[in-house]
Amino acid sequence: MRELTTDGLLDAVRAWVEIESPTNDAEGVNRVADHLEGLLRGIGAVIERTPGRDGYGDILVGRVPGEVNDGPGLLLLGHMDTVHQRGVFAYRRAGDRAYGPGIYDMKGGNAMAVAALQHLHATGRRPRLPVTVMMIPDEEVGSPSSRAAIEAEALRHRAALVFEPSGEGGKFTVGRHGIARWHIRTEGRPAHAGAYHAEGRSAVREMAHHILALESLTDHPRNFYVNIGIIHGGTHENMVPAECSAICYALVPTATEEAELRAAVHALPQHDADVRTEVTAGLGRPPFGKSPAIQALYDHAALLAVETGLASAGERVAGGGSDGNFTGALGVPTLDGLGVIGGGPHTREEYIELRCLVPRTRMLARLFETLGPGVGGL
Ligand SMILES: [Zn+2]
Repeated sequence: MRELTTDGLLDAVRAWVEIESPTNDAEGVNRVADHLEGLLRGIGAVIERTPGRDGYGDILVGRVPGEVNDGPGLLLLGHMDTVHQRGVFAYRRAGDRAYGPGIYDMKGGNAMAVAALQHLHATGRRPRLPVTVMMIPDEEVGSPSSRAAIEAEALRHRAALVFEPSGEGGKFTVGRHGIARWHIRTEGRPAHAGAYHAEGRSAVREMAHHILALESLTDHPRNFYVNIGIIHGGTHENMVPAECSAICYALVPTATEEAELRAAVHALPQHDADVRTEVTAGLGRPPFGKSPAIQALYDHAALLAVETGLASAGERVAGGGSDGNFTGALGVPTLDGLGVIGGGPHTREEYIELRCLVPRTRMLARLFETLGPGVGGL
């Protein structure tokens, strides 16, 4: 891509969006991977494709050499899946926006990142550091089949750049709250609720105590939210319930809250000595905060944003999780939210603003071209 134009970039975005790829549709996700593989081969990347497991699509990695080829480089992270089932709504352009499944989260960002690499390639330039493009198939369900691979790759790189959508007006993401999930199960003793009530030990009643204990940790000013969103218990109204299960889902802004919740879950007071409680950690995303290294990355990107015509970048700490949580929590300098400007994530009104495509892609090209020893804190 020699010239960066809105129409050219929109065509690139559209090609991604028109291959529908809900997370649970490995075939669709793999067609996105085929498309990406073709683009990366076109710029001479060395491809590593890991077959999907547990019903998810493949993990695709493409390695592009840099100017400075000694030592670790940049990890460019994206996900190929979307939350939208096939055929729900289609790509369309209207005025200064374009709509489509996953266009904002995050196919627009993926398309821009690859277009920036293609632009460097077509104009005889290179990223300063070696670049690894890594796109995964299952981010929208917590990256269960990819987390280990992401973390292993991150530790081999100097920094991670994530092309999830930007914050309002183009803000970069310099930290993310974490998400913690706990599965809780109680097991009591069944009994006829009329004839032998005294012999029963209610698993639901014990769970009720647990729910109140956990939800009382919620602290709105700290952005610490504990929610028991799902509970199942009992089998009959005329029976003391012997089993109950619940899922505790929490937003944990920092490691402090994550540890607080973990401690509480493991120390749930036992109200009925005959009811057993079992807790298991579910999928989660650890929080990460802005470190001096992230500040340095941000400062450099913000300069480039001004240089390439984005009035200002700005920064934010985002509530929702991304794969940047994994890399950031490992201490790998992570700059997230480098993707498109738009809105309506996870809705049928998901859109991007066309005016962001050229300056944002140019900024990414400049970022890849300049980040290296002595620049951006690296
Ligand atoms: Zn996303």
